Amino acid sequence: MAVYGSGDRGDHLVQALLADGQVRAMAAVTTRTVEEARWRHDLSPTAAAALGRTLTVTAFLGAMLKAPQKVSVEIVCDGPIKALHAQADAEGRVRGYVDNPHVDLPVNARGKLDVAGAVGHGTLYVIRDLGLREPYRGFVPLVSGEIGEDFAYYFLHSEQTPSVVAVGVLVDPDHRVRAAGGLLLQVMPGASEEVISVLEQRARELPPMSSAVDQGKDAEGLLALAAGDLDVRVLRRLPVQFKCSCSRERFERALVALGEEELRDMLETDGSAELVCHFCSEVYRFDAKDLAALLKAASYRQQ
Ligand SMILES: [Zn+2]
Repeated sequence: MAVYGSGDRGDHLVQALLADGQVRAMAAVTTRTVEEARWRHDLSPTAAAALGRTLTVTAFLGAMLKAPQKVSVEIVCDGPIKALHAQADAEGRVRGYVDNPHVDLPVNARGKLDVAGAVGHGTLYVIRDLGLREPYRGFVPLVSGEIGEDFAYYFLHSEQTPSVVAVGVLVDPDHRVRAAGGLLLQVMPGASEEVISVLEQRARELPPMSSAVDQGKDAEGLLALAAGDLDVRVLRRLPVQFKCSCSRERFERALVALGEEELRDMLETDGSAELVCHFCSEVYRFDAKDLAALLKAASYRQQ
């Protein structure tokens, strides 16, 4: 198997504090995660870049939680990609999809994949399931459709946290994801003017994250690019992977929940069923024998 950019250690995320806790920082290499999303959903290069950037920030949002909390990101937009969906847990497991995986546009004026053109205008939603009765939900309008800037705007306006968000995906001519990763820097309340100005300066000089990953930087290396002379204290390093929570049993339960009548109709009309998980494109097939067994389960349930 070819190894792209991230070395042999696989995808990972690092959480750290900079400048004696004045800045919260995260960095991640997500090449394999985004490549898995790409082949699972047959994503075009533009769709892979848009979803890959979103998955990377969603992994950051997940890492801020405690298990078994989860976070969902929804981007609903008027561009040809239509919508992006991503979820992450506190342990580096992410999954996601887009409504139009084949969206493809010419590269933009800077020679880059035109993510903003694919996304257009819309709204970014962040929904945190913290295990309380109601999930916590924040949203902002998209400011550029480039994803990174949109999340920076979200953090500032919805969570009152000035943030730098840099995310990138590099796609090879054969459409495979060559490198992906990102960086999140958040200024904590009480940070000094000096630290903020150092951070702003570094942020302006950051290379594209995908190039840095492609050149072999791991998450600590990405952090070092942002930190410069500021001290870095690494708190945690965790693996990141594309991992869906779907299973055949879950789909069986969903079929049984449809009820006896629907199942009998399915069995008599089609003789089989094929269900596809939106999040990972896994296909679950149920033949006549399977459906008959589920029908039996449904009829017991209704008694
Ligand atoms: Zn799935």
